[in-house]
Amino acid sequence: MKLRVKDHKSVPIVVSENTSVYDSIVALFVNDVGTLFVVSEQGILEGVVSRKDLLKTALGKIDVNQLPVSIIMTRMPNIITTTPEESLWAAARKLISHEIDALPVVRPANSKEDKLEVIGRVSKTNIAKVFVDLGLGRLDFF
Ligand code: ADP
Repeated sequence: MKLRVKDHKSVPIVVSENTSVYDSIVALFVNDVGTLFVVSEQGILEGVVSRKDLLKTALGKIDVNQLPVSIIMTRMPNIITTTPEESLWAAARKLISHEIDALPVVRPANSKEDKLEVIGRVSKTNIAKVFVDLGLGRLDFF
C-alpha cells in the first residue's frame, strides 16, 4: 500500500480512434503488450482495446483493414483508470475486481473539464514484477 503507481508504471502504448483493427493487432505484437489505449490527438483517453477484443473481431468476416478500432473498443466513461499517486495495491485490486489486465494511468487534461490524459500503464506484469522484487528484498517499502 506504500508503493505508488508512479514509481512502477510503464509507458502507455496508444493508438488513435481511426487506427484500423489490423494495425492495432500489429501494434500489440510490435510493442509486446496485451492492451492498447485509444487516445485523441491531444492524448485524451477515449477507449481501451484488449487482445481478445481484437481476436474476436479478427475471427469474424469483417475486413480488419477497413474497420477502425473505435468500433470495437471499450469506451469512456466505462474505463477503469488509476492515477500516479494511487497505491499499487489499490491499482492491483481494480485489476482483480474488474477482471481486466491493464489500467491507464491518467491525470486531468489541461483546461479540458472531465477529460483525462494518458500518462502511463499498469498491467498485471507490473504487479508481478514488484511482487518478485519484494521477495528478493530489492524493494524498500518502509
Ligand atoms: P482480454 O479481453 O484480452 O482478456 P482484458 O481482460 O483486459 O483482456 O479485457 C476484458 C474486457 O475489458 C475487454 O473487452 C476490454 O476492452 C475491457 N477492458 C480492458 N481494460 C479495461 C479498463 N482498464 N477499463 C475498462 N475496460 C477494460
